[in-house]
Amino acid sequence: MTGNSLDPHLARYAARTEGMRASAIRALFAVANRPEVVSLAGGMPYLASLPLDQLAAESAELIAKDGRVALQYGSGQGLPELREQICQVMSLEGINAHPDDVVVTVGSQMALDLVTRIFCDPGDVILAEAPSYVGALGTFAAYQAQVVHVDSDDDGLIPAALRSAIASVRESGRKIKLLYTIPNFHNPAGTTLAVHRRGEIAAICAEAGITVLEDNPYGLLGFSGTVYPAIRSMDADNVIYLGSFSKTFAPGLRVGWVLAPHAVREKLVLANESATLNPPVFNQMMISRYLANFDWQGQIKTYRELYAERRDAMLAALEAHMPEGTAWTHPDGGFYVWVTLPEGFDTAAMLPRAVTARVAYVPGTAFYADGFGTRQMRLSFCYPTPERITEGVRRLGAVLEGEQEI
Ligand code: PMP
Repeated sequence: MTGNSLDPHLARYAARTEGMRASAIRALFAVANRPEVVSLAGGMPYLASLPLDQLAAESAELIAKDGRVALQYGSGQGLPELREQICQVMSLEGINAHPDDVVVTVGSQMALDLVTRIFCDPGDVILAEAPSYVGALGTFAAYQAQVVHVDSDDDGLIPAALRSAIASVRESGRKIKLLYTIPNFHNPAGTTLAVHRRGEIAAICAEAGITVLEDNPYGLLGFSGTVYPAIRSMDADNVIYLGSFSKTFAPGLRVGWVLAPHAVREKLVLANESATLNPPVFNQMMISRYLANFDWQGQIKTYRELYAERRDAMLAALEAHMPEGTAWTHPDGGFYVWVTLPEGFDTAAMLPRAVTARVAYVPGTAFYADGFGTRQMRLSFCYPTPERITEGVRRLGAVLEGEQEI
């Protein structure tokens, strides 16, 4: 919101603040965090499985041995040794990258901000899946970029729909700068882009002169252990790839990265420096030690097993408690299930009643730039235990039953 009429600064705000909206998720956190509410709303990793005692010892040693470096300013591009390790992480997805082309950022959220900053003028179009990640939509709006959604199905973004979206936006005389896509275990849709579509989408964008922005925080969290090839592995020249340690390790350290074509990387480092001077050195060194000294792949396996069990609990509970005519996705990884209710439901209007019934979710409209999603909602299965998930979905079912009687 831009503020209210009592705000004495109102006439002085920049026009871009018009696009700034309080995130639906943030507004929910205060209520959803109350212990009696089962929150299926936030996408918070379940950190109880981290080896906290060993991490405490590691961070103590980091300060004792390397404190003068760890607590100092650092490089605007990020620590060279961490960038090398990041290249090894990305090699799991078939990416062959040089550490010079990696820029470390304050989470991938900062990377979204930097990429939008260097590519988009007000009015420029960004194509994105329908639905798309609420945090990216907020960033795009803050730079006054216009999002045009492209239809997706259970196999992700539809190449034919991408072609026709490009044609119709261009017919209207607008400039398309980016295709923003989340190929794996989508937030919020829970779907994965079919591998056979990936090369085609990269080719369509390269031919049309549109840069692909591939956002992949969940790629290593496939429940079967399958890791899909990144779009970046198919086109190194036209794809900007975003990665993060938030879901595979811990979001509190706020460390993500961009792998960019060489020329773009220059601009990103300048943008990173003007935004933050440098990403936090201590946090980068901590992650670098974690990757070197801990069984990080074993930790990811633990996360996968934990989340797979919770996904199963959620799907079984949906089967038992959703009204006739409800559809939902069946994610093979990640954190989210996307639920589509029958005609007539309004998930935003229903939310206060759901919270009163001690269950929370994110209404579907948060994930569209254009008001769609009224009868949809995102349910996260990452944080609550399977028992709490079952109870939460049961409560949701009772709320929906009540709605039908209104
Ligand atoms: N992209 C997507 C698709 C996400 O789901 C998230 C976190 N919810 C982010 C980016 C931001 O992650 P972070 O800044 O913690 O790396």
